[in-house]
Amino acid sequence: MTPAPAYDAPADSPIYANKQLYTRIADCPSRTLTHSSLIRPRSAHAWTVRAGQVCRITAPQGAQVGDLNIWNSHNPRERFWASRTRQLHQSHVSTFDRLWSCLPYMRPLVTITADTLVNYGVDEFGGRIHDLLGTRCDPYIHHLMTGESDDFHCHSNLTRAVAEYGLAESDVHDVLNVFQVTGLDEKGRYFMATSPAKVGDYFEFFAEQDVLCALSVCSGGDLSQWGWKGSEEMGDTTKPLGVEVYTIDDATVLEGWKAPEPSGYRGLHGLRMPVREEDGLAGV
Ligand code: ZN
Repeated sequence: MTPAPAYDAPADSPIYANKQLYTRIADCPSRTLTHSSLIRPRSAHAWTVRAGQVCRITAPQGAQVGDLNIWNSHNPRERFWASRTRQLHQSHVSTFDRLWSCLPYMRPLVTITADTLVNYGVDEFGGRIHDLLGTRCDPYIHHLMTGESDDFHCHSNLTRAVAEYGLAESDVHDVLNVFQVTGLDEKGRYFMATSPAKVGDYFEFFAEQDVLCALSVCSGGDLSQWGWKGSEEMGDTTKPLGVEVYTIDDATVLEGWKAPEPSGYRGLHGLRMPVREEDGLAGV
């Protein structure tokens, strides 16, 4: 018998998005563009999205993978937790999946509202799109693999992009690889495949709280020519990615939506502060 998903919850659990509400948000025709940027290859951009706004990541020139980080914009200790999101939803996320924050917060940062590649499904090699299995490329593993130094891996791009928000390298965390096809082979080894994104494809999410996002446009381009050594051919596959932030003008669309609270657990892990009751001067 196939084992049941370990984190399965009742359909009305806060783990899952209310499909009616998020379809209404995705379909709302009255929205105003408040921020737009084009991110060139081998660089990253950081921007904020207010709770209740919608953010769209676009592939304006076609296939290109992007590495996404998300924080609570008021408290960067609350940040995206890729592995728990993978357990709660899927190894590759799409419409109605939520991107969850780390402990002790354990609440959605954003909910995915639209994905033009939702029908990619599972390819002949077991690959799926919008990857949570892997993480960002970085110069440390690159140096171990090749002996070379390169300042334009996604980890470095993200580090530079968030500096203006007062964040540092240690704030960069495991990513969602948008538009990226990956899977595990018959031996469980991670593989990447060519991104199928076309001009006009997009991946859109609704901000459940005020968030800071950062997106790196990977040096690997569409991954069709991927290699640790890099090559002119790989560089030729790189294209910019776009970011658009929208305000929803029709407030009635958000009826029934409430910003999520942190998890209600208050047990302090069983730890208790000692109380000196014998002299009635606790804490002195
Ligand atoms: Zn990368």
